[in-house]
This record gives sequence, structure tokens and C-alpha cells, in this order.
Amino acid sequence: MPNAINKIRTAVSPQGRKIDFFERVNDVKLPGIFFLGVFHGDETEGEYAIGRFMRELVENPTVKCDYNLYFLPCLNPDGKALKTRFNANKVDLNRNYPTANFKNETQTLSYEKVKCGRPASETETRFMMELVETYKPAMIISIHSDLHLIDYDGPAEKLAQMYAEKTGYRLVENVGYETPGSFGTWAGIEKKIPLITLETWRGRTDEEKEKIWQEIRPAFYETLTFKP
Ligand SMILES: [Zn+2]
Repeated sequence: MPNAINKIRTAVSPQGRKIDFFERVNDVKLPGIFFLGVFHGDETEGEYAIGRFMRELVENPTVKCDYNLYFLPCLNPDGKALKTRFNANKVDLNRNYPTANFKNETQTLSYEKVKCGRPASETETRFMMELVETYKPAMIISIHSDLHLIDYDGPAEKLAQMYAEKTGYRLVENVGYETPGSFGTWAGIEKKIPLITLETWRGRTDEEKEKIWQEIRPAFYETLTFKP
């Protein structure tokens, strides 16, 4: 059935949890867009938003869309269960990519010490790399919290401007601290895929996450016909 959403791939996390990947095929010849959530286990706003988006698209299969859509609501189910930023091996999954600027250790605003593993040492990272290499998305929307801003990597300035306009979130060129081995560096800068990192504010309850979804919803729909 055209425009149905199907689970097409599942990886298994270090602690045995499923990492599901979904596809909505509009036309096999069209390029794809990736919507990604929960690189960091304590940032679950993206999973909520992607879940809401998927349900709306199932209910409205005729919405105008120039792309095939791919959804990975939760990359880090172990971190989510353990209520931590990191995965079960205590590695930051947004610092584990085999980029030119890879480091074994770094820091963030909240953490003095962040372990990055070895390049692509983590199952979750290798799964994501395989998905990008297989489906070659034309745009990537990666959802984090809680800096409340839009950041971008690679040729994504226009896309990031659209997101900033539609959400009212502040647009920045970088988050203000080093992010070696990040997914944005790997996919955006090195593979040149337009990539935005949508940092929402911290929504703890479903009510707050719904409020966030309503803020970012117009940008998500605009993405469906956007030319980066
Ligand atoms: Zn994050």
C-alpha cells in the first residue's frame, strides 16, 4: 500500500533492546528524508515527536510529499531505560563516528568527561552508518534536547533557516563546544548530506512533549516538499 509506514529494519542494542527503523515509500524513485531521535538516552522528546508524526501521516496518507520518509524514533533504548545520556557501554553515541576530528574523550556543557569509545565501536553507530549508506537520505533531521536551538552541518543552511523560521528556535552555526566524532560531522560535513540538529527544550511530561511537537510540527510538514 503506498504511503503505509512499515518497519523495515531492526537492530539489537548491547542490552538486547530493539532499535526499529521505519519506512514510508511514496515512490521508489524519490530521495529520502531521515527523522532521528534519542541519540542521547535522556533526550526522549524526539521519539515522542516522531511517533506523533508517523501516526498523523498514517491517518493522512495523501499529504503532499516529494520524498520517501525514514524514521528511527529511538537510537539509544538502553540509555533511555538507564536514564542516561550514554549507551550501556557508557559511550556518547553522538561522539562515536569515525570522523577526521574523532577523539577518545571530550566534554559538554553538562559533563566534564565524555567517553567516545573507539571510532564506530558501538552497535548503534554501525547501524546508523549502514542505514545512511543504504538509503542515502537527501536530508537528515536529528532531534535532541535541551539547548532549544537549531544547529546544522553540511549544506543545510537553507533547511536550518526554514526550521528556525517555522519553530521560532534560535539558529546557530555551532553549539559552542567541541563535538568530535559527532553524527553531524560524519553525515553533514564529511558526507555532505544536509543535516540539521533540532534541539528542543526539555520536555519531561507527555504534556510538555506534546507542546514541543506542536511547535516543531509545521517545520516537519514543510520538510516534505522542501528543496535543500
Ligand atoms: Zn543530545
